[in-house]
Amino acid sequence: MKIYPWQQPIWQRIHQQKDRLSHALLLHGRAGVGKLDFAQHLSQSLLCATPKNGEACDVCPQCTWFKEGAHPDFKYITPEDIDAAEDAPKKKTGKKTQISVDQIRQLIQMLSLTNHGVSSLRVVLIHPAEALNTASANALLKVLEEPPNNTIFILVTHQIHRLLPTILSRCQSIAMPIPERNVAIEWLAGQKVANAADLLDYHGGAPLAVLQMQADFSAQSNVFQQLAKGAKLDSAVCAGLLIEQGMEHAITLLQKWVFDLQLALHQLPHHYHMQLGKPLQALAKSVNLGVLLEFQRQLVQAKQTANHPLSQELQLENLLLQYKKAFKH
Ligand SMILES: [Zn+2]
Repeated sequence: MKIYPWQQPIWQRIHQQKDRLSHALLLHGRAGVGKLDFAQHLSQSLLCATPKNGEACDVCPQCTWFKEGAHPDFKYITPEDIDAAEDAPKKKTGKKTQISVDQIRQLIQMLSLTNHGVSSLRVVLIHPAEALNTASANALLKVLEEPPNNTIFILVTHQIHRLLPTILSRCQSIAMPIPERNVAIEWLAGQKVANAADLLDYHGGAPLAVLQMQADFSAQSNVFQQLAKGAKLDSAVCAGLLIEQGMEHAITLLQKWVFDLQLALHQLPHHYHMQLGKPLQALAKSVNLGVLLEFQRQLVQAKQTANHPLSQELQLENLLLQYKKAFKH
């Protein structure tokens, strides 16, 4: 696993401080700039038995275990996907979005055991840290206040404002850089991404979000096809397509769509949807601006509760009913 070119300076800085690193690091910055990959790179280098110039050797047993996801002294905490764990018939409830207090309790129990002796250090990686709810954050706080020996916590977040101030105060905060535009474009071109510049703008300068989007592209174009139907949109179908993107991403997608729709209404060039000029212009002809603005307001509201795990698909469906009303039949 390589460090991205725009992360080299911050990597050097952390490497120089390695012996003085806090027991809890908080990597924060925009979504899609490679924070998680960086955190994993750092974790492996900390656990590696024979690092060279601070880089993991990639061949020692520790590195091998790490890459296989089997290192006994590495713990990755992320929202659990309960759907995958259940045998019950699959029901789409969207992505699991919270780190439960049980997960943190299990972690504490694991940390209370002596370490496995395969490395002198244990690493706990928590991502995304904003997925900690009040109970799990408070449980974690207790460990951060009295950290076990030889344990480093790495928290990763793109929504630092959602973390408890008490957690923040226990962590060494590390701001993860957004790449320079030309650096990101060059890197994306190297990943064989066509239209790198346009896509990078769509994703607010976050290159890994662009790669992710390439993967999600067909799913998204299905959503756009639905949205372009205006009043004829099938809200249940569209909500089903949207929920696969995750609630937060789904709402962002709707916000960007409405933003461009308003630009089209005023006959201004689109900001996000370069390839969808025609459908947007056609749709703008039948739009009721007042209702559309109300929809926009509801999206903002929905975003604030986007991580509430209950009935997200239903919430999206209700939002889409409002969206439909914004167009003349
Ligand atoms: Zn190694």
